[in-house]
Amino acid sequence: MLALDFSKQKVLVRVDFNVPLNDKNQITDDTRIQKSLPTLKYILDHGGALILMSHLGRPLKSKKEDGSIDVDKFTLKHLLTHLEESLGVHVHFAKDTVGSEASQKAKNLEPGEVLLIENTRFQPEEEKGDEDFARKLSSLADIFINDAFGTAHRAHASTTTVAQFFDKEHKGFGFLMNSEIENATKLLQNPDHPVTAIIGGAKVSDKIQLIEKITEFADHILIGGGMSYTFLKAKGGSIGKSLFEEDYIDLASELLEKCQEKNVNLMLPRDSKIANDFSNDANTKTVDSMNIPHDWMGLDIGPDAIDDYRKIILESKTILWNGPVGVFEMENFSKGTFAIAQAVADSTSEGAFSLIGGGDSVSAINKSGLSEKVSFISTGGGAMLEFLEGKELPGIKAIRD
Ligand code: AMP
Repeated sequence: MLALDFSKQKVLVRVDFNVPLNDKNQITDDTRIQKSLPTLKYILDHGGALILMSHLGRPLKSKKEDGSIDVDKFTLKHLLTHLEESLGVHVHFAKDTVGSEASQKAKNLEPGEVLLIENTRFQPEEEKGDEDFARKLSSLADIFINDAFGTAHRAHASTTTVAQFFDKEHKGFGFLMNSEIENATKLLQNPDHPVTAIIGGAKVSDKIQLIEKITEFADHILIGGGMSYTFLKAKGGSIGKSLFEEDYIDLASELLEKCQEKNVNLMLPRDSKIANDFSNDANTKTVDSMNIPHDWMGLDIGPDAIDDYRKIILESKTILWNGPVGVFEMENFSKGTFAIAQAVADSTSEGAFSLIGGGDSVSAINKSGLSEKVSFISTGGGAMLEFLEGKELPGIKAIRD
């Protein structure tokens, strides 16, 4: 992006303004807007005019009873005041994306001015990656910048197809997108060893591809969360009522063997905090993870597992963390996840590179108050997962092609 000349240019920027709103349509977490500001301010400071496009929610999946789009709920207009305050300039708004209002307002835009066009997902063509719609979007501007890492794994019109209408000298990644790619690449290519991946979350099925990819370069894989119990069962353990995916037990066994062959230390939690009900008020005790009583379920890693994992994390030079190691939303089962957050922060302060890759581990690190103490927190849940699995994301490829 730094190589492009924005002076007197109209710059179409795909941002990820898919922010959470409350029932009064107020933004409850503006992280995504804040993260886009360096790119937007840079373009304005270098003489460009901004045309911003984003999706918000899933308007086509939540239509009104009469089949029409719920514009009042999903309009990007809800973001206008906050965006103006954040950017410090007036922001024009177009009630369409490629219609006459957007075209006219884009045409009249002067350097230093900003236009926000309406939710791209109001158009059914968006999610189909429609060429005609993308061409119309491209005709609004001279340059295209993609800064929406969170949707880079979708081959939609505004994230991917639109890029084909700009040549290499007129398109690029924004600063956020660049840093996401750089940090994830740092982890995948020539990381400093020992490399440790902490993989938690609910299900093996969601993370199996990630774990397979990680066996190619990690020294330690520390498993936690609901998925532990499918692995423990594959090893012959009794897991009581813990989360279990029968269809994945063979894959789990294969992965355990593969790690042994490759000398990758895949660890399962030695002990678990178990409960007699999926509730914060349930009775609890700590037991050997291989011997969970019949009517009980594992909802957090236990103190011995915390000690094991902390030791390994502190000895690591590169750390990836994806997914909580317990039901951290419930206070009584959050200890393991917060202990992992602390260990990752402590190791980072000793010089390790740490990447928190998407989803619930991001909210866990934020909740722990340690977000400033890790190297990089990804803004892209699904996109980061796919990137780390080694897939080429369509939104990235379209800029590079
Ligand atoms: P994921 O989106 O796959 O990273 O999963 C995150 C979810 O996994 C969180 O909502 C956790 O509450 C849940 N989770 C973590 N550990 C367990 C567990 N032992 N049993 C059930 N759910 C869990």
